[in-house]
Amino acid sequence: MAQIHFQQVSKRYGKDKEAVVDQFNLEICDKEFIVFVGPSGCGKSTTLRMIAGLEDISDGEVYIDDVLVNDLPPKDRDIAMVFQNYALYPNMSVYENIAFGLRLRKLPKHEIDQAVKRAARVLEIEPFLERKPKELSGGQRQRVALGRAIVRNPKVFLMDEPLSNLDAKLRVQMRSEIIRLVKKLEVTTIYVTHDQTEAMTMGDRIVVMKDGIIQQVDTPEEIYNKP
Ligand code: ADP
Ligand code: ADP
Repeated sequence: MAQIHFQQVSKRYGKDKEAVVDQFNLEICDKEFIVFVGPSGCGKSTTLRMIAGLEDISDGEVYIDDVLVNDLPPKDRDIAMVFQNYALYPNMSVYENIAFGLRLRKLPKHEIDQAVKRAARVLEIEPFLERKPKELSGGQRQRVALGRAIVRNPKVFLMDEPLSNLDAKLRVQMRSEIIRLVKKLEVTTIYVTHDQTEAMTMGDRIVVMKDGIIQQVDTPEEIYNKP
């Protein structure tokens, strides 16, 4: 069973505008790590944002676990998203940043505490829980952003160019950390990047996009072996 299913999905920013995502058809399996790759402006972020409910769908249908989600508000989707710019709250500690979403959902304090500490342990950021984001390195900040996403135990994990602000060495290290993390959590993951090496080394399958259209969906091996 496909966990996420796009059926003829299109997106236009404005009624008479051209489609920036054009009749997208795709099935993403449960626990799959899928990478959307393509040049800047080809519609990768827009596609992620439609899955998260942050962007209206102009045409077609998106299903998650066979439920039509076109009109479902973001908070009713079991999805967490990580962005390139970390999107951490600068005035909150690492602990508060990770706990924030759980507090909004009014979980009991001890449950929040357990969940935050579990996420911090998995990501090895326990020593930094009382620090502010500006007192952390880029890699540590990105781990906090990951922590804030995984703490809710989401069914689907969306990552939009999460490593592009890091230097090359850290980027390579974080790639394997992210893979290890999502395999451990067994969460369906969609990872967006413009970096072909990143796509080829990380994805179970790769969706190659250009100008709002899917050009190819294949495993890294299949892509490598095609002329
Ligand atoms: P990518 O993530 O692949 O860089 P995007 O999904 O961000 O691509 O953008 C796809 C196209 O949609 C681009 O041409 C971009 O300029 C346009 N676009 C993105 N967001 C908006 C918006 N809020 N309003 C109008 N156009 C947008
Ligand atoms: P409020 O509830 O008053 O809107 P928040 O608790 O949401 O404040 O935000 C705390 C601080 O984090 C504010 O300075 C806000 O501007 C900043 N902030 C909120 N959302 C983001 C975000 N996505 N990325 C970075 N900073 C943010």
